[in-house]
Amino acid sequence: MLTMSHPLDNIALLPHVFNMDYDVIIAGGGLTGITLALALHRTGIRAAIIDKNTPLVAPNNIFDGRSYAIAAASQKMLNVLGLWDDLAKNAQPMVEIKVSDGYAGEVPSPFVMQFDQQDFTEGPMGYMVEDRNLRRVLQGVLKDSKVTFKSNTEVLSQTVKPTQVAVELTSGATITAAVLVGADGRTSNTAKTAGLTRSGWDYGQSSLVCAIAHEKPHNGIAHQYFMPSGPLAILPLTGNRSGIVWTEKTETAHQIHALDKADYLDILRPRFGTFLGNISLAGERYIYPLSLSTTHSMISQRVALVGDAAHEVHPIAGQGLNSGFKDVAALAQVLCDAKRRGQDLGIDTTLKEYQRWRGFDNAMLCTATNGFNLLFSNDNLLARGLRDLGLGLVGSTPMLRRAFVAKAAGTTGDVPRLLQGEQL
Ligand SMILES: Cc1cc2nc3c(=O)[nH]c(=O)nc-3n(C[C@H](O)[C@H](O)[C@H](O)COP(=O)(O)OP(=O)(O)OC[C@H]3O[C@@H](n4cnc5c(N)ncnc54)[C@H](O)[C@@H]3O)c2cc1C
Repeated sequence: MLTMSHPLDNIALLPHVFNMDYDVIIAGGGLTGITLALALHRTGIRAAIIDKNTPLVAPNNIFDGRSYAIAAASQKMLNVLGLWDDLAKNAQPMVEIKVSDGYAGEVPSPFVMQFDQQDFTEGPMGYMVEDRNLRRVLQGVLKDSKVTFKSNTEVLSQTVKPTQVAVELTSGATITAAVLVGADGRTSNTAKTAGLTRSGWDYGQSSLVCAIAHEKPHNGIAHQYFMPSGPLAILPLTGNRSGIVWTEKTETAHQIHALDKADYLDILRPRFGTFLGNISLAGERYIYPLSLSTTHSMISQRVALVGDAAHEVHPIAGQGLNSGFKDVAALAQVLCDAKRRGQDLGIDTTLKEYQRWRGFDNAMLCTATNGFNLLFSNDNLLARGLRDLGLGLVGSTPMLRRAFVAKAAGTTGDVPRLLQGEQL
């Protein structure tokens, strides 16, 4: 019997006959873009990063007040990628998390959810890492790796061909690869050009972000207070300092942000409480508008998205970067496995595997963070009753507490190898 095969079937197994400049081009050299490049580089996949800005490293390593809660699984990946030893010197382990409902100036509601080492026996549930340290360490390892980083450059056009994607840059050059990854943040041009549509909305809330120095030690305990206008997270940093993510209605947030330092602290104090003694500012103050924005798919032909380019979520659960790191770990794994099978990295079956792996999880994260914000950021009596009931129920049920912590630590479900602390 005569069987007809498509001429490209065999070509899919022979990527190098096309003599491409790189295996993967990553548009966006933020935290997820660089991490992906480093993960791929370790497996011999040749990656180039394009960023419209210069790499953001704090001048003279000055702390600008921004920090991230890094989940236990993300920490494992940073360790495998050779970043953790350096990061650990300035990372603060989180050993306990206390969540409660409250009003400014009042004692928290008696319904408290408290997670501690009994609920997560693997070690700290996560770590607080300052933005300046994460960027400095990523840039350092990136430089040593000799991964190509083209800064002050944007993608002018991306043309998908049967066997490769050609990317025209503002510098005038055109480079080719098997896959183009959009790691270019919440306004992702890569997604737009690939026709990946998005849905979402503005929350009408903004987060005030800064670091606070305090008199008493925090003992590695993170606090989350749910106030009617939005949550206030107090997250332990090294020394007697904590990072805050203080969410208010956007208009109020801008008014508070415009105040001088003393007045800003006067508004914060009744919300922050007195349990850490006197407080003062330990860096610059920032304000971030909050919105939900998610693409309907994370892939199209020879294109994949990671991080905020695919899903920007409310910071209520501190999961934005962590879910971006999960994308990185999953995409690196499917690309690495395709390379081991000798396949073209950009074929549909490989990218669809990535979509199946991460699409549902990210949709659930968007739904959950949106639901939490709706339930917790309001003063409705019924919602208040419901959330107190929920906090009380989870707080008093060890099995539920363990399930919550494992989810937040990123150790549940089909966890990619890097997030399990294994090599690709
Ligand atoms: C108030 C607040 C607190 C948060 N706290 C936490 C937390 O505790 N834990 C956590 O996990 N997450 C947190 N997040 C979320 C986290 O900050 C983001 O999810 C994360 O920074 C996204 O990283 P990214 O690399 O995907 O995108 P980005 O950081 O947006 O990087 C995008 C990169 O792409 C480049 N770029 C953009 N457009 C182009 C273009 N056209 N061409 C080339 N390059 C381009 C940019 O210059 C940039 O370098 C928080 C967010 C907010 C707002």
